[in-house]
Amino acid sequence: MIGTCLGGLTVYKPTTLEDAFAILIEHGSDAAILAGGTDLLVDLRVQRRDEHHLVSLANITELRGVTETENGVSIGAATTLNDLLHSDVIQQNYPAIIEATQVMGSNQIRNTGTIGGNIASAVPSADLPPVLLVLGAEVVLASKDGERTVPICEFFQGVRKTCVAIGEIVKSISLPNPSGSAVYERFDLRQGNSLAVAAVAANITMDGDTVADAKVALGAVAPTPEIVEGVNAILCGNTCNDNLVHEVAQLATQASNPITDLRGSAQYRRELVGILTTRAIKRSVEAEQ
Ligand SMILES: Cc1cc2nc3c(=O)[nH]c(=O)nc-3n(C[C@H](O)[C@H](O)[C@H](O)COP(=O)(O)OP(=O)(O)OC[C@H]3O[C@@H](n4cnc5c(N)ncnc54)[C@H](O)[C@@H]3O)c2cc1C
Repeated sequence: MIGTCLGGLTVYKPTTLEDAFAILIEHGSDAAILAGGTDLLVDLRVQRRDEHHLVSLANITELRGVTETENGVSIGAATTLNDLLHSDVIQQNYPAIIEATQVMGSNQIRNTGTIGGNIASAVPSADLPPVLLVLGAEVVLASKDGERTVPICEFFQGVRKTCVAIGEIVKSISLPNPSGSAVYERFDLRQGNSLAVAAVAANITMDGDTVADAKVALGAVAPTPEIVEGVNAILCGNTCNDNLVHEVAQLATQASNPITDLRGSAQYRRELVGILTTRAIKRSVEAEQ
């Protein structure tokens, strides 16, 4: 397929996944997948990356949209953040995705940025991963050899590193039918176009007055977004009182491994994890009642 040359870059606009795979294989590590470009084009400009062949997903229509399935929903990787915000099924069944999406970037960023790009960039402060973790999402990866499905907790492998192999494309993100009441708490330095300093998603399922299932995930406070292990052991089978919430907040703080940067010190971020975890659990439990 012939691409369009722009400066030192060649941009290809395949209309099928098969054509996209062929270009990715032909150019190997010199090719990058271009979705909205809100991360990639910045990285190329500041020379954090140096691929010369960009495979745009813009014309592969099967990658865009939210589809209800027997078990939940399938979200095409090239679905934009604004598509998510305007999706009826996401609004009704997965409001935590709306909470996370509406604080991301600006309207311009949400118009072009995609869910696939948000997870595939594997930037620690990305907003959707913590929510996808507590919702039990799975990532569908496609290549010329077929498809494989990876639980989102195995997708992230380090700062800007994922399990996506050369020649693979994130095709969709699957969410199971909702259970519990997921919520998202993020702390940032200003509204609009700022990244999370620390973020926590929680998803508590109540059975009457007792906790039946509990998940907490952290963002922006470790090299990868991560589930906090051990939360169920503290909360499950108990009524959710302040002491137990405090215990989980301490556990989450210990699980975090933040860095110090311009947006906040490691110590500040650890303290934020405790506060955001407490808020998220309380709000999730309230939403269950
Ligand atoms: C001003 C500004 C503000 C921002 N604010 C936020 C914010 O508040 N919260 C936040 O989380 N992010 C924010 N971002 C980051 C970015 O907008 C989001 O992460 C966005 O979702 C990225 O999606 P994209 O489609 O633009 O990805 P792209 O830039 O196109 O791609 C990002 C990476 O993912 C890869 N990729 C994309 N799609 C696929 C796919 N289907 N399969 C495999 N690999 C793929 C690309 O090769 C690239 O490595 C901001 C960015 C800017 C510039």
